[in-house]
Amino acid sequence: MFKKNDVCILEIDDIGTNGEGIGKVDGYTLFIKDALPGDRVEAKIMKANKNFGYARVQKILTSSPDRVEPVCPVASKCGGCQLQHLSYEKQLEFKENKVKNNLERIGKAKDFVMHPIMGMDNPYHYRNKAQYPVRMGNDGNIHMGFYAGRTHSVIETEKCYIDTEGNDEILKLIKENMIANNVSCYDEEKHKGLVRHILIRKGFATSEIMVCIVINGKTYPAAESLVTALTKIPGMTSVCLNVNREKGNVILGKEIINLYGKGYITDTIGDVKFQISPLAFYQVNPAQTVKLYETALKYAGLTGKETVWDLYCGIGTISLFLAKSALHVKGVEIISEAIENARNNAKLNHIDNAEFYVGKAEEVLPKYYDEQRAAGNNATADVIVVDPPRKGCDIKLRETMVKMSPERIVYVSCDSATLARDVEYFTANGYKLVEVQTVDMFGMGVHIETIVALHRTDL
Ligand code: SAH
Repeated sequence: MFKKNDVCILEIDDIGTNGEGIGKVDGYTLFIKDALPGDRVEAKIMKANKNFGYARVQKILTSSPDRVEPVCPVASKCGGCQLQHLSYEKQLEFKENKVKNNLERIGKAKDFVMHPIMGMDNPYHYRNKAQYPVRMGNDGNIHMGFYAGRTHSVIETEKCYIDTEGNDEILKLIKENMIANNVSCYDEEKHKGLVRHILIRKGFATSEIMVCIVINGKTYPAAESLVTALTKIPGMTSVCLNVNREKGNVILGKEIINLYGKGYITDTIGDVKFQISPLAFYQVNPAQTVKLYETALKYAGLTGKETVWDLYCGIGTISLFLAKSALHVKGVEIISEAIENARNNAKLNHIDNAEFYVGKAEEVLPKYYDEQRAAGNNATADVIVVDPPRKGCDIKLRETMVKMSPERIVYVSCDSATLARDVEYFTANGYKLVEVQTVDMFGMGVHIETIVALHRTDL
């Protein structure tokens, strides 16, 4: 039995869900941060559970052939990236294998086509959105940057290699404004102090920038001078406050106070234009998003005659991408501001065959189905697209989807374990997993986006 502070030597042979290396010593599994498959390491156990433990690398005895020098000097301390020390090619291989394994093991799927992963041309500076925590450091200075892995101490980041270039300039201006006006930083433990986070979003196609200051209060004392400073930055289109007075980890509150601009920025994906509000979800990697949505369009197999549902539609991105090739699209989304964006986005693009509903997909769709049936209508759909958050689709939603018997289900997923669980449900209920495409939206991170096509087996 191993215990804390034991030192052992082992080979690493796998990568865990948080990017940590996994290896075994005498049958005991250890999760080791910053270790890679192919490494032989000397590691010290930090926490020993009965069947597995967590350890830290003391020394790399033999280095993995896939190990590379991270470009970012704080890569190993910062919680933002997990895989910078692994070559990008191997990151892609790891992600693709993870999805395939989950589909086969959890999803019990077989005989599907697994297309080669779509990797990024440049896996740096790809993010159009960043959320920087703001805290007072032990040195008495304001720190804006990233949480150190698994903790809430903030690492000051001069320059982040995955965020869009230029954010450092914006942070600098805000910091100067805070210092000049004696504006306090939020203190999580005491739940006191004002500025909690800074959210920056940029439309890569339009260069429009939004800055949203998340505050534990109702007003920012120097709002006017802050707007004056920020609007000197080319492209600054929207400056707002977000009120979050709750304790806990959730970054954004529900209330937005607009300080400058119309309260949204605009961006385009392919040839569709989108308005994006601070509270709405918008894919963070525009170069890869086009590939994802084009795959969704391909898997939907539209001819112009179809009724399509786009569940978890956000600001209507996929809905509007599909609308031009479908008879009618109905989008469902829980955040009302996002639906407001979606309706405006339809108008902006002169699309009049898309309508949007606010609510939970697992409530809106069953209600629609029951009402239509009660009225004597058949309530079927030709194609249903889903793009849920990590927890996947609620069972009530899955049941209704099967009842509506679409010919095709297109499932976009940011968590291949819940995707696999849902695929198993659909394959047990009259569908077949036909093809799978992984798209890397999060280079240097562990997450991976997957899109799959399921077809009704009786066709
Ligand atoms: N398809 C969109 C958004 C995908 S992200 C795009 O590609 O941009 C998932 C979305 O689901 C988010 O907008 C989130 O607000 C929404 N959401 C979360 N839970 C939901 C639920 N139960 N019902 C409907 N929408 C939900």
